[in-house]
Amino acid sequence: MREIQKEIKQLLNDLDAQLVAHFYQKDEIIEIADLSGDSLELAKKSSQSDKNLIVFCGVGFMGQSVKILAPHKNVIMPKIACCSMARMVSSAYYDNSIALLEKYGILKDQILPITYINSNADVKAKVGKMGGLVCTSSNAKKIFEFAKSKGKKIFFLPDKCLGENLARSEGLKSAILGIDPKEKVLEADVVCYNGFCSVHQLFMPSDVEFFRQKYPDILIAVHPECRPDVVELADFTGSTSQIIEYVRSLPIHQKVAVGTEFNLVNRLRPPYEGKRNTFVLSATIPECPTMNETTLKDIFEVLKAYKNHRPYNQIDVNLETATFAKKALDRMLELS
Ligand code: SF4
Repeated sequence: MREIQKEIKQLLNDLDAQLVAHFYQKDEIIEIADLSGDSLELAKKSSQSDKNLIVFCGVGFMGQSVKILAPHKNVIMPKIACCSMARMVSSAYYDNSIALLEKYGILKDQILPITYINSNADVKAKVGKMGGLVCTSSNAKKIFEFAKSKGKKIFFLPDKCLGENLARSEGLKSAILGIDPKEKVLEADVVCYNGFCSVHQLFMPSDVEFFRQKYPDILIAVHPECRPDVVELADFTGSTSQIIEYVRSLPIHQKVAVGTEFNLVNRLRPPYEGKRNTFVLSATIPECPTMNETTLKDIFEVLKAYKNHRPYNQIDVNLETATFAKKALDRMLELS
């Protein structure tokens, strides 16, 4: 263990704190984390943890989710990085989208909003206030099945790819608000907001073709934030946790190319007989820039400042926003 990792461990121990890290964090952070996982696992487990101080390595909405679910806890983030997808929708953009749907003749009480967990607290609060709920890529299928039973038009935000992929897998019609014509929006069961993940957009059908040509027996596993034309070509689609489970369950000699964040893919499996058999499904490096902003030094500094009663990067969510955002998160947790 590196010296700085030992010092962080000591500070965590002195402060009785829990270090939580999303799967996309750098290896040296995952190595010392008390808890690592995808956004659903981390929101659930760290909000229920017996530690009062949570040090969250991830992007802003993740720290907010813990604070909303467990307001009595102190949540600090070594770096308050913002997920580029979450930044694509604000509460004002949300209001504009609902206004556009109303202009098309769709009444507010005919709409069930579902926001992907990758959205900020004020957007989750808007969704909660309208009776809607949150979903993650692990439980999205279940949440969609519930939504279907309500007989309303689903307004899915911010990720158009996840929305379209889910609609297709559930046999529902989808349209993208502001892009597709009004008639298509009116016919759609699922209306998607026009947001996307800049990292998962990097995977292309030509990447799938390249790997299939090079290794005819290769399997392709992708995250549902990938483009629908990539998801359609894949052998497996799932959340980060589901991808980990899938890849690790494959025979050790089976080659697989994975369409998700680079750090995670590189940790999936050791080489087989000295050769790599797990590939990143891209010629580029699909690294999430905001997730990768957090360093060991950031963790060390934020803990040292907290210990010296000079805390910074503490997560706070105002009461009204937290109350409605919690409704949307609780509805998801009840179903998942
Ligand atoms: Fe956001 Fe995409 Fe980065 Fe995930 S990988 S945090 S969705 S930008």
